[in-house]
Amino acid sequence: KVRVRFAPSPTGGLHLGGVRTALFNYLFARQHQGDFILRIEDTDQTRFVAGAEEYITECLAWCGMEPDESPNKPGAFGPYRQSERKPSYRQFAEQLIEAGYAYYAFDTAAELDAERQTQPNFRYSHENRMNLRNSLSLSTAETEALLSAGHPYTIRIKVPTDETVSFTDLIRGKVSFDTNLVDDKVLLKADGMPTYHLAVVVDDKAMEISHIFRGEEWLPSAPIHILLWQYLGWEAAMPAWAHLPLILKPDGNGKLSKRDGDRLGFPVYAMNWKDANSETLTKGFREMGFLPEAFVNMLGVLGWNDGTEQELFSIEELIAKFSIARVSKAGAKFDFEKAKWFNHEWIKGASTQSLLPQVKELLAEQGVNDASDAQIEEVLLAVKERLTFVSDFWAQASFFFQRPASYDLDAVKPKWSEEKTAFFQAMSISFDGFDTWEAPTLEAFFKEAIKESGMKMGELMMPFRIMLVGGKFGPDVFQIVQLLGKQEVIARMQLALK
Ligand code: GLU
Repeated sequence: KVRVRFAPSPTGGLHLGGVRTALFNYLFARQHQGDFILRIEDTDQTRFVAGAEEYITECLAWCGMEPDESPNKPGAFGPYRQSERKPSYRQFAEQLIEAGYAYYAFDTAAELDAERQTQPNFRYSHENRMNLRNSLSLSTAETEALLSAGHPYTIRIKVPTDETVSFTDLIRGKVSFDTNLVDDKVLLKADGMPTYHLAVVVDDKAMEISHIFRGEEWLPSAPIHILLWQYLGWEAAMPAWAHLPLILKPDGNGKLSKRDGDRLGFPVYAMNWKDANSETLTKGFREMGFLPEAFVNMLGVLGWNDGTEQELFSIEELIAKFSIARVSKAGAKFDFEKAKWFNHEWIKGASTQSLLPQVKELLAEQGVNDASDAQIEEVLLAVKERLTFVSDFWAQASFFFQRPASYDLDAVKPKWSEEKTAFFQAMSISFDGFDTWEAPTLEAFFKEAIKESGMKMGELMMPFRIMLVGGKFGPDVFQIVQLLGKQEVIARMQLALK
């Protein structure tokens, strides 16, 4: 059975790359009727941040990616927070020592710092492990003495010398590593907590994970993980790996980092994030006004396409069409203008009813409380294709709810004439005589009157728009006329002509 996991560390807000990793895991799981699991990787207690786990849960819910198993919805493979599995990690680390695949290292932080001072390229590896203080370099008696004296220690993996570790990445194909270049990574820390490397392997095994989709930044860790799967005797159960392409800065120059958001003027977090320890708020896509559908769509095509020109995909379509074979190896440039385009398209296609709650909030903020839902929906229908964010609604539609506070007179002034005033006076009288008030009839009547006047269409259409709206913007004039209603149109014409 397909079982995949999204395994974030609760260290802060979720960055675009993290959500995309979650999404590709989710799509693959749904496509194969598998399970999508949320696992919280919280073994690095120095990096633990309060509120981060809740943020992750809320973010997945906002995006419509509900996990099948998670800390809040435990299944049969718990615990779903790594810290809660603490006792079993030590047992596996000790099993590795017994089998000769790992060793105790007694070097203190100060000793290792001193090594780094003298050797700038210091690595704890096959080359120098015999010169350091560990159970490989010490005698059994010395090791026993240190252990029983309670000397702090870590447990390190003993990476083999002169070997090649290979695996077939689902995206990259065959990837090989020279073990001489791989460090003896710490597996169990002095505080008894596992490092990421040990925990990820033990958990993926315990949770029967079948496929791992994770960021390319984890590729260098793959040899350690593969060795652990082998050394623990679990090779037959080893999952398949797919390392996802990086998300790059807009200019393609390096990985998009958490800090780039403020610098480049767009969010990189899914939702607003506020660190409990600092007052700084990092802006998120949700609060900026992105629809979750647009956000998910934009992420879905960051490093994947279906082989056609299609760019707009619902999450259901992504589930149906996603394929590992079409995930690119190269990094994907993030383009905020394109992200806005996705949002614009999704708002355009959204039902007016789904946008109504947000728009009502915006109207209430502006003091407009007397508009009916039906009225608001009609206005939404007229303007939604002009919105990049739902919050643009007021700028695009305020004139439907209140009279223009000023008029863009410069747009009409030089060409104004008595003749035009007379035309609009006559028109407002004629409008008053209409019993039904419908755009097509009114438009035909208005245009016929222009023809009879001998003036040009444009000379009168733009002033008419400005009388109703205040400026040279908005949807079709007669759509506005119909929505405003007879009395209001006449009143605005009179006001403007005064
Ligand atoms: N905890 C890692 C992270 O924060 C997970 C890496 C993996 O998926 O193996 O990204």
